[in-house]
Amino acid sequence: MPSRYMVRVGEIDVLVVSDGVLPLPTKMLGHNVDAAERAAWLNDMFLPSDAFDWSLNAVVVRSGGQTILIDAGLGLDPNLNLPRAGQLVRRLEAAGIDLAAVTDVVLTHMHMDHVGGLLVDGVKERLRSDLRIHVAAAEVKFWEAPDFTQVDMPEGFPDALRTAAKRFAQEYRNQLRLFDEKYEVAPGVMVQRTGGHTPGHSVVRLSSGGDRLTFAGDAVFTVGFEHPDWHNGFEHDPKEAARVRVRLLRELAATGEQLIATHLPFPSVGRVAVDGDAFRWVPVFWDF
Ligand SMILES: [Zn+2]
Repeated sequence: MPSRYMVRVGEIDVLVVSDGVLPLPTKMLGHNVDAAERAAWLNDMFLPSDAFDWSLNAVVVRSGGQTILIDAGLGLDPNLNLPRAGQLVRRLEAAGIDLAAVTDVVLTHMHMDHVGGLLVDGVKERLRSDLRIHVAAAEVKFWEAPDFTQVDMPEGFPDALRTAAKRFAQEYRNQLRLFDEKYEVAPGVMVQRTGGHTPGHSVVRLSSGGDRLTFAGDAVFTVGFEHPDWHNGFEHDPKEAARVRVRLLRELAATGEQLIATHLPFPSVGRVAVDGDAFRWVPVFWDF
């Protein structure tokens, strides 16, 4: 099965690497709507009614001599039974990318499925001692006392997320490079805070030679094109997350640039079209 897909944005190389999949109960799709509405959407999408697999996509970007890993996958939590996720390090190796070659990591946010790969035994030792990890200051602050009152997650997840974020902040405190609103990590590689999903949630904008691509992290899910107002169970401020999603999708539809997002089906490369009051996902034709 393929686990990586390459895109070029002007002078910038982009490699989507699959961390595997994460089966989640379908209520996570939209906990503010009726079960019947969710069931209708799942039926239309030929998806099972109880649970389905969410993709986990990470990205490696090469620009200006830097090798930048955007998000780090789920890693391995012995308390959660998720054996088909946490493949990132193995698949980076299969793609010929040595962990010691990574100069920068950009984190869209500090949920376990985005930082967990950095917590796997032996990974930190293989990363460079001068590695820079870019994350929004608001994100690090949020996880000092995270608010879980508006989420709707499966049992065990809130504790696992708290533990992973705390461990990450401790183990990598010397590598953290905090930004407030935006920061240019490398030529044409800009990380930009959106908030919503978490207070420090950020997207990465790539731009080179007239080409553009946005890595949207968890601002957009598969259901979010047709139903941008459905509240995802992992959103800590779901109303703001919906506003962020609509604003971003409108912008991407207007620019026609490419979009990659963590939980869209691999390789998750496509574009956004306006469809009445909502949006439509237009996957790229696979480029061989
Ligand atoms: Zn996520």
